[in-house]
Amino acid sequence: AKESKENLRSPICCIMGHVDTGKTKLLDCIRGTNVQEGEAGGITQQIGATYFPAENIRERTKELRPDAKLKVPGLLVIDTPGHESFSNLRSRGSNLCDIAILVVDIMHGLEPQTIESLNLLRKRNTEFIVALNKVDRLYGWKTCKNAPIEKALALQSKDVVIEFNMRLTQVITQFKEQGLNTEIYYKNKEMGDTYSIVPTSAISGEGIPDLLLFLVMWSQKTMVEKLTFVDKVQCTVLEVKVIPGHGTTIDVVLVNGVLHEGDQIVACGSQGPIITTVRSLLTPHPMKELRVKGTYLHHREVKAAQCIKITAQGLEHAVAGTSLHVIGPDVDVEEAKKTAMEDMKSIMSWVDKSGEGVYVQASTLGSLEALLEFLKSPDVKIPVSGIGLGPVHKKDIMKAGVMLEKKKEYATILAFDVKITTEARELADSMGVKIFCADIIYHLFDQFKGYVKDVRD
Ligand code: GDP
Ligand code: MG
Repeated sequence: AKESKENLRSPICCIMGHVDTGKTKLLDCIRGTNVQEGEAGGITQQIGATYFPAENIRERTKELRPDAKLKVPGLLVIDTPGHESFSNLRSRGSNLCDIAILVVDIMHGLEPQTIESLNLLRKRNTEFIVALNKVDRLYGWKTCKNAPIEKALALQSKDVVIEFNMRLTQVITQFKEQGLNTEIYYKNKEMGDTYSIVPTSAISGEGIPDLLLFLVMWSQKTMVEKLTFVDKVQCTVLEVKVIPGHGTTIDVVLVNGVLHEGDQIVACGSQGPIITTVRSLLTPHPMKELRVKGTYLHHREVKAAQCIKITAQGLEHAVAGTSLHVIGPDVDVEEAKKTAMEDMKSIMSWVDKSGEGVYVQASTLGSLEALLEFLKSPDVKIPVSGIGLGPVHKKDIMKAGVMLEKKKEYATILAFDVKITTEARELADSMGVKIFCADIIYHLFDQFKGYVKDVRD
C-alpha cells in the first residue's frame, strides 16, 4: 500500500556560499539554536546536519500560506564549511543533496566562493535557490520578526525599498554575468529556467517562512521520482566521534532505505574494511543539530532521509566521508568489502612518492583531502610522506619519526581537528617528533613555517 507515489522521503538540502554570508546563522535562526557562536573562529569545520519535521515547517510557514500541503515528512539540512580550502568538504556535502540554498550577502553581492559553489552545483546538476541574506542591514530596516518577506517589505520606508531593489538588481545582474537567470521568487514565472531569490534575515527571521516553504513545495513538486522512497540503503559517513558511554560512533546521512538495529554493515576503515553490527541508532531531538551536545533518541529503525548516530563495535578506524553498506541476505560480503574501500584508494595518491615530507593527520576524509590540497597549493608547498585519520596514536609518531634521520623538520605531525593520545604525546617528546595541532588549517601552516625557520636558522 505504501508503494504509491506519495511515499516520499525528506529532501536533503545543502547550504552553501561564501564565508560569513550567514549559512550557519540561517540554520540557527530556523532551529532557534546558537551553533555559530560556538565555532572555532566562527568557521564551520565539520559538516553538521539538522532534521526539520514537517510539523515545524508548517508552524513556521502558516502565516505565509496556511493551506500549504506538505507531502514530505520533513527537511534534512546539511551545513557545509565555508573556509577557502574546504572546497572538498563542500563538494562532498553537495554530493548528498537533492537541493541547495546558495547564500549571498545582500551587502556584498556575489563573492569568489559564491561562484565556486555555483559552479559545483551546476556541475552536479543540483537544483538550488538563492537566499539573499542580511536584508536587516539595509539602512533603516524595520524589524518584523519572522515575517514573510513581502509583508516585511511592505512595512519598510520608501528609501529602504529603493536600496533593496537596487541591490537586488545588482545581484541579478551579477548572476546574469555568470550565465544565470534569477528573479525574486514571488515574481518568478519560469521556475526551472530562472532561479529564485528569497530575501532573508538570519538575525530577525524575515523571509525564513518563504525560504522553508519554497524549499519544501518546490522539491516535492519537481523531484517526485528522486524523492520516492526506495528500500536500498544509501548512506554516507559524515563524522567519526568518541562519545562517552558509547565508544566510537559514526554520524551518517541516510539518503535512502531503512537502517535497523542489528543490521550487519560494512564501512571503509583506514586499516581495511570494517564489518560490524549496528548496536544502536540514535538521533538528536528534531530541530537540534548533531553537533550540539545533548541527549539522543533511540530508534529500532530509521527511515531515510535522516542524520543518524550509529554505535557499534570496531568503528575506531572508520573513515568519515565514505559510504556505508548494509550486508543484506543477497549481498556478497567480499564484494561489499571491496566497494566499501573504494573511497580510500584515491586519497593515497596524494602522498609524496619521494618518501620525504611531514605526516598529516585529520578527522575526516574530507578534511584530510582539504588539508592535503592546501599543503600542495603553490604558495604553501609542504610535501607529505604519510597520512592518518582519527586520533594520533603511538604508531603515527613512529611513522613520522622515520624522518628524523632524513630531514628533521619533516619529523612533524600536522594534526587537524584530532586528539593526541597521552602515550603518543610522551613518545613524540622523547623521540623529538614535533606535533602541531589546530582546528583551523592555516594556523597549522603558520606554526609549521615558524618551526622550519627555527630549525634551519
Ligand atoms: P557562515 O560563514 O556563512 O556560516 O556565516 P555565519 O553564520 O557564521 O555568519 C557570519 C556573521 O554574519 C556572523 O557574525 C553573523 O552574526 C552575521 N550574520 C549572519 N546572518 C546575518 C543576517 O541576516 N543579518 C545580520 N545583520 N548579520 C548576519
Ligand atoms: Mg558556517
